[in-house]
Amino acid sequence: MSAMKVRYWGVRGSIPVPGEETSRYGGNTSCLEVRTDKTRIIVDGGTGLRLLGAELTKPEELFMLFTHLHWDHIQGIPFFHPIYSPDYQIHIYSGHKADVSLEGVLKGQMQAPNFPVELTQLPAAMTFNEVPHGTVLELGDFVVRTIRLNHPQDATGLRFEHGGRSFVHLTDHEHNDEFAQPIFDFCKGADVLSIDAMFTPEEYPTFVGWGHCHWMQTVEIAKAAGVKKMILFHHAPAHTDNDMDLIQANVREHFPNTDAAFEGMIVEI
Ligand SMILES: [Zn+2]
Ligand SMILES: [Zn+2]
Repeated sequence: MSAMKVRYWGVRGSIPVPGEETSRYGGNTSCLEVRTDKTRIIVDGGTGLRLLGAELTKPEELFMLFTHLHWDHIQGIPFFHPIYSPDYQIHIYSGHKADVSLEGVLKGQMQAPNFPVELTQLPAAMTFNEVPHGTVLELGDFVVRTIRLNHPQDATGLRFEHGGRSFVHLTDHEHNDEFAQPIFDFCKGADVLSIDAMFTPEEYPTFVGWGHCHWMQTVEIAKAAGVKKMILFHHAPAHTDNDMDLIQANVREHFPNTDAAFEGMIVEI
């Protein structure tokens, strides 16, 4: 049985921030890939998705899971080359919300005058699947569990299981009393927890209600759930590489097996 491999293609929250001061951790927005030799699942389609697409050269069946549909999680889709090829079959999933259709939102961002090609004109075979929170999906080699997160207009947490190993990806999420226990249970014993750590504890009071954790909250979740390793994700656009080095060092004092995600980072689980 092949190992689970996670690769980060975009680790930034909110907006891409290219430039000298973000070149080590990377400036692209949310996108990662969770895979085995047989199954490739793409999580979110921020601007990092374009780079992932550039690596795909053969016909393939792809799964794409969206944590939610905020811009920083979908803006790479119009620049993802497989959508322009009949060689790709793409099964797209997102958490269900009665007032918003997944297909409608993705269509909306490609409608004139925002983009020259409409989603309905694309040659790739795409399916759109809206799933209620709590749904358990079987996608190729993976069992994927889902949970509702605390975020404006909701977001979906994902737990990937394969061959007795587990990887949890929780973004975008703000820790609070109501969500604490269900989230601890959802993350319980995970080999790796990849989590929204957008703010520092000092910054957080200005951003209460924005739907993101500060890193001391992620430490609380990692410890309460007994996870083995933590990866910090959804870095604030204002945080430079030097800021990220300092955040990583501070978090390691509380939870030593922690890394801050960077573009190109590969984690074997
Ligand atoms: Zn986000
Ligand atoms: Zn968001």
